[in-house]
Amino acid sequence: MTDLKDIKAFAFDVDGIFTDGSVLALDNGDLLRIFNAKDSFSVRTARVNGFPVAIITGGCSESIISRFNSLGIPSEDIYQMSKNKLPDLQHFCKRHGLELKDVVFAGDDVPDVETLKAAGLGICPKDACVECQEAADVVSDFCGGKRFVRDIVERTLRAQGKWKFDPDQPWGFSYRDEVNAAQFKSGRHV
Ligand SMILES: [Mg+2]
Repeated sequence: MTDLKDIKAFAFDVDGIFTDGSVLALDNGDLLRIFNAKDSFSVRTARVNGFPVAIITGGCSESIISRFNSLGIPSEDIYQMSKNKLPDLQHFCKRHGLELKDVVFAGDDVPDVETLKAAGLGICPKDACVECQEAADVVSDFCGGKRFVRDIVERTLRAQGKWKFDPDQPWGFSYRDEVNAAQFKSGRHV
């Protein structure tokens, strides 16, 4: 298990990690999710401090792209419709010159088990499925969507002396570009 001081990047599942797992299913097929602002602030702070952050989810929606773009995560680091998350995490690592041991991965359900085992630090929320709790290096005291992300990001940045808010930093990220639109259209990271 990699020490928090040596972590270089984060990778997160979405449902059950940034959310409590609930989705509001609309008549038109769209799914609405509720994100926690404290989680979001920590992700932005990680990005401002230069940490690559991957989003690896089985879901697919424009709102996932726009939400994480707004936190400073470029579209190429958002893997939607991920059926096997470990190859996607390996792809992310390769593009950023990282090894699996450098990365925290957070997941909460059966499709995340293999990736929890492979990452440098595999962590799951306390309401994760039993397979994840057995596979993870750490079971958090927090539930998904209830400051779970904030806790792991804040702890990591504090361990590295990087938990700082600089109001002069450019917080207004915008990656909503043509690549982003193309990715959503294809429904798949390319
Ligand atoms: Mg999940």
